[in-house]
Amino acid sequence: MCFHDGVTIDEQQRLADSPWHRWAPIGQTLDASHVAGGPVPSIRSLELLPLDQMLVPERPRAGETDPSECVACKPSEHTIWANDAWGVRAGFATPGLPFVAALAPREHVLLEDAPIEVLAEMGPVLQRLSNAVKQIPGVARCHFMRWNDGSAHLHLWAYARPEGMMQGRGAILPYWEQVMPAMPEDMAREHIEIVAQAMLKSGDGAYYPER
Ligand SMILES: [Zn+2]
Repeated sequence: MCFHDGVTIDEQQRLADSPWHRWAPIGQTLDASHVAGGPVPSIRSLELLPLDQMLVPERPRAGETDPSECVACKPSEHTIWANDAWGVRAGFATPGLPFVAALAPREHVLLEDAPIEVLAEMGPVLQRLSNAVKQIPGVARCHFMRWNDGSAHLHLWAYARPEGMMQGRGAILPYWEQVMPAMPEDMAREHIEIVAQAMLKSGDGAYYPER
């Protein structure tokens, strides 16, 4: 271990280097005051930490070094629907938004190496899940997000945006989920049931009523 400008660096790591990295204002505390703006502001003030040094190689994601340890590959009590290629998991924690779920292929793949057959099935499943989530009373939209920084198993997040919640439009919605109080358990279970039933009615796959 050594320390570089306050950042812990493994012996195997080095500073990331590219034209972009050499340009980036590393070490500076950037002005985020304009983030609070927008047509329907959600944030009164936002204070960022200084931009950290960027190190490579990055530490492995879950399931990257040893796919046999991948949680997304193992059966889960949180699976609410699945077909041969894709599955939906929900209920990890009681959400504050009406519904939060993860959508992932059954196979341990990344977007970059997934078989075309798996990818071809993603579109219809996204459409079915979006329609299913909108069956929940009071839901206007189903937002999908894909980052894949935490797990080396392709997955997307689905967030239900409540009707009329203009402050929840766009990429701010997951931040609202982090601060909203958990909804009542029975309401969360009912919403999961609505989505699972709607998925079943809209095509193939199995519903997991034991949840
Ligand atoms: Zn996996």
